Amino acid sequence: MAECRCGSGLDMRWMNDCQGIPLTQVCDDCQKIKMKKYNPWVFNGYDQAFLDEYSGESIEPENELTRQQRLDQWTELQDKYGTEK
Ligand SMILES: [Zn+2]
Repeated sequence: MAECRCGSGLDMRWMNDCQGIPLTQVCDDCQKIKMKKYNPWVFNGYDQAFLDEYSGESIEPENELTRQQRLDQWTELQDKYGTEK
């Protein structure tokens, strides 16, 4: 394995999100620092609907119901994983 680019000298590995998609390369030393750059939901759980919302993808008027459904799913996710209230 290659050494991490942060200069720690530790082995570099891929940091994946909760769906196993590689995000960035990290080592034990810099993983927590790099994680802070990402939305916590990336690691806690999300689905395609959330990605569409998060990316700001334009939504056609005829998809308004779907959009509401997405928001409902999002609310369910928040309830499921807990948020500060
Ligand atoms: Zn590192």
